Amino acid sequence: MASTDERFMKEALKQAKKAYDAGEVPIGAVIVCDGKVIARGYNRRNTDKVSLAHAEITAIRKASKKLGDWRLEGCTIYITLEPCPMCAGAIVQSRIDRCVFACASDKAGAAGSILNLLDIRELNHQVECTSGVLEEDCRKLLQRFFKELREKI
Ligand SMILES: [Zn+2]
Repeated sequence: MASTDERFMKEALKQAKKAYDAGEVPIGAVIVCDGKVIARGYNRRNTDKVSLAHAEITAIRKASKKLGDWRLEGCTIYITLEPCPMCAGAIVQSRIDRCVFACASDKAGAAGSILNLLDIRELNHQVECTSGVLEEDCRKLLQRFFKELREKI
C-alpha cells in the first residue's frame, strides 16, 4: 500500500503531467491540509510568460485564497522537484509546516542541494523536509521532457 506521502505525491505528479502536456518543464505541486488536497499548481512559466508562475507559487496562492489566510500553518506542500530559492522562500513566508519533494535539483535546489532556505535557524520559521518520495516516477517525466526537447533542436 502506498504511504500517505506517496499518495499525495501522485497528485503532484498529475499536476506535473499537466505542465508536460502544455510543453512546460513538468513540475507540479499540491498543498495538503487536514489530510485533504486544498490547492494544486503546475509550472506555467512559458504559458504565462512570467518567472513567478512556478507550481509552488500557484499552489500557495490558491491555498491562501481557500483558507482566507496568508499563513498556511498545519499545511504540507508536495512538489515533484526540490524548490528553487524563490519558492523555498515563499514556503517559509507562508509558514508551511512541512515540505515533501521527489527529486533533488542540482541546478536550483534550495532545500538542501545548493542551499537550504527551509532550515535557517536565524529565520522565524523552519520547515520540516522529506525528499525522495516517488523520485523515480517524477524524474522519468523530467528526463522524458528534456530528451524530447533536445530531439527538437
Ligand atoms: Zn520555484
